[in-house]
Amino acid sequence: MDASGKPSTGQILLLATSSALTAVFYSMYRRKAGHVARLKEAKKISLDQDLKNILADAPGKCIPYAVIEGVVRSVKETLNSQFVDNCKGVIERLTLKEKKMVWNRTTHLWNDCEKVIHQRTNTVPFDLAPHDDNISATVRVVRPLDAAELDLETTYENFHPSTNSLGNVISHFISGERLRGVQETEEMLRLGASLTGVGELVLDNSLVRLQPPKQGLRYFLSRVDYNTLLARQESSLHVWRALTLLLGLATCATLLYALWRHWAWRRRQRKERDELKEFAERLRRRARELSLDEAAVPASACAICLTRERACVFLECGHVCTCERCYHTLPQPKKCPICRASIDRVVPLYNS
Ligand SMILES: [Zn+2]
Ligand SMILES: [Zn+2]
Repeated sequence: MDASGKPSTGQILLLATSSALTAVFYSMYRRKAGHVARLKEAKKISLDQDLKNILADAPGKCIPYAVIEGVVRSVKETLNSQFVDNCKGVIERLTLKEKKMVWNRTTHLWNDCEKVIHQRTNTVPFDLAPHDDNISATVRVVRPLDAAELDLETTYENFHPSTNSLGNVISHFISGERLRGVQETEEMLRLGASLTGVGELVLDNSLVRLQPPKQGLRYFLSRVDYNTLLARQESSLHVWRALTLLLGLATCATLLYALWRHWAWRRRQRKERDELKEFAERLRRRARELSLDEAAVPASACAICLTRERACVFLECGHVCTCERCYHTLPQPKKCPICRASIDRVVPLYNS
C-alpha cells in the first residue's frame, strides 16, 4: 500500500496469482468430483450367464458406464516374462529409467533425478472371466492401454550402477550431473489376476466387450476392488478440495487486507480535511478576537498570536502552527492545536 492508498504492484500480483490458482484448483476439483460422482453412479454388473440377456435388453445393447469384476484370462496367446520363469500375462511393460544426481546451484546440493529413456508395452487380447470356473460368461477387454489407471504388477526390477572412472568423476563436477545408473523394470498384468474394469459394456454379436466409455468418462482397469478404487479416487478429491479452500482463504484474506488498508487511508484523509477546515475557522475567530483584518494576516503567521512567524514542528503529528513563544503558553499536557495529538517533541523550524 503506497501513500495514495492504492494497493502496491506486489499486492496486485499476489492477488491475481492467488485468484488464478484458486480458479485452476477449483476447476480441477470440480472435474475430479465429476469423475467420482460418475464412478459412484456406474452400474455394477456381475459377470455371469445373465450378462448377455441384460445387455440384449439394454438400449443399443450397451451400458454406457458399468463396473465389472473378474479374473484375467488370455484369449489365444500369452506373454512370458523375460526375467521370471513360468510367469505369464497379457500386458508386459519394460521400462528403462536413467537415474542421476543433478547439482543444484542455488541450494548447493546434489538432487536425485530420473528420466524414462525407454518404454515398451506389449499386449495380447484378453478376457475377464468369472471367479467361478463353472460359469462360462466372459468379457473382452478392449484398448486396455487407454485406461486412466492401469496398475500393473512389478515382476522384475534391477538397478545397473554406472562405473565411475577418474575421468568421469572430473567431468561430473564440470557438468554438474552425475549418472548413478539405469533402473530396469518389468511390469505385467498376469493371468489369473483379479481386475476391476469400469467402462462401456457392449454386446457385439455374441461377444461382450468392455471398452473406453464416451462423454469424457474415465476408463479404469484396476487390480483393486471397486470400493478401494472409489476410496482412492475420493481421497485424491479431498486433497484438491483442501488446496482449493486454502488458496481461496488466502485470496480472501489478501483482498480484505487491501480493502481495509484503503478504508483506513480514506478515513485518515477525511479526518485531516475536517481538522484543517476547523483550524481555518478557529483562525478566523482568533483574528476577530484580536481585531485584526483577516486578509492582512500572512499564511505563515502563528495560529495563536497571528503576528509572529510559525517556528515549531510538533512531533509526531508534524504540524507547524505556532511560534516558539506561543508554544510555551500552551496548557499542559501540550496538544497540537490542529489535530489535538499530544506533542512528544518539538523541533525548531529555521526559515532561511
Ligand atoms: Zn505566536
Ligand atoms: Zn498536529
